[in-house]
Amino acid sequence: MARILDCAAIAAVIKQEVAEEIRQLAARDVRPGLAAVLAGNVAASEIYVRSKVQTCAELGIYSDLITPPSSVTTEEMMDVVAALNGRDDIDGILVQLPLPPDVDSKALLDAVAPEKDVDGFHPVNAGRLQAGRPALAPCTPAGVIEILKRSGIPIAGRHAVVLGRSDIVGKPAAMLLLHENATVTICHSKTRDLEKITRDADILVAAIGRAGFVTPEMVNPGATLIDVGINRITTREEFDRFFAGNEKREATFAKRGSTIVGDIDPKAFEVAGAYTPVPGGVGLLTIAMLMANTVRAARMRRGL
Ligand code: NDP
Repeated sequence: MARILDCAAIAAVIKQEVAEEIRQLAARDVRPGLAAVLAGNVAASEIYVRSKVQTCAELGIYSDLITPPSSVTTEEMMDVVAALNGRDDIDGILVQLPLPPDVDSKALLDAVAPEKDVDGFHPVNAGRLQAGRPALAPCTPAGVIEILKRSGIPIAGRHAVVLGRSDIVGKPAAMLLLHENATVTICHSKTRDLEKITRDADILVAAIGRAGFVTPEMVNPGATLIDVGINRITTREEFDRFFAGNEKREATFAKRGSTIVGDIDPKAFEVAGAYTPVPGGVGLLTIAMLMANTVRAARMRRGL
């Protein structure tokens, strides 16, 4: 029977550690601060940002929520970011994506001061990560490493296969695994014989955004499966494909008209040695790592 990796417990421990660091910083009159910029009215973004702000309050991080309207221009957003770059009470700047369609997201993310880039998206931080220098690493991939390490899953020398090569998940996850001495293969939409590669994985990280893409036949029996994907399914056909006979899910689906599935078909978890569930998996680490990065940025900026 596959082991479920307890991401809730891991996230809770990381948050406790962060809270302890914040107490130590308070003794030196330092209070880490995070600014969240939420432009427009994307419902999912509002939920994410609200829970980030709430976690700041729980841990003792000062937070400032800035909410420009959806009509905001690139220039106005640049001014918001420039002001935050200059504020001494702000250690981390989070620009919630997606931005309104007329805003130049790349230019904006590049405008965040690298030392305050707690999402780890700035090219300077991406380069530092690649070069193995101390950097603010993107939160979700950093969370993946914490899950593996704190669950006692060996990484060094193992074959880690990462599905997806985005700048925010796939690439940094691969780089972090490489720094942990895994032998890493990165797969993407042009990869040939993908199934052959995934079947050789000791650790399989799926971050492609395709509901239940990884089937049991694609999994090396006993492998560790890390499911980063978050996909909302709304049709009965999709529901039955993944969750037929699952009463708990049936209740959620009946109530909300949708449910969430990762990039890994839940049936593949039965073949695995260990896995992260969706929901209640990698996503829980993302906010914990954002808090950790904010405290790290506060220390680094002050040379502590
Ligand atoms: P992107 O859409 O930016 O990237 C998807 C990647 O998957 C691309 O590299 C793409 O390849 C690859 N891909 C797409 N289809 C296939 C396929 N059929 N076979 C092989 N590779 C494929 O997504 P993100 O990286 O931003 O996110 C990935 C998933 O992770 C999403 O479900 C997202 O919701 C979730 N996510 C979860 C987070 C969390 O906190 N748990 C945080 C961030 C994301 P190519 O480059 O060739 O196009």
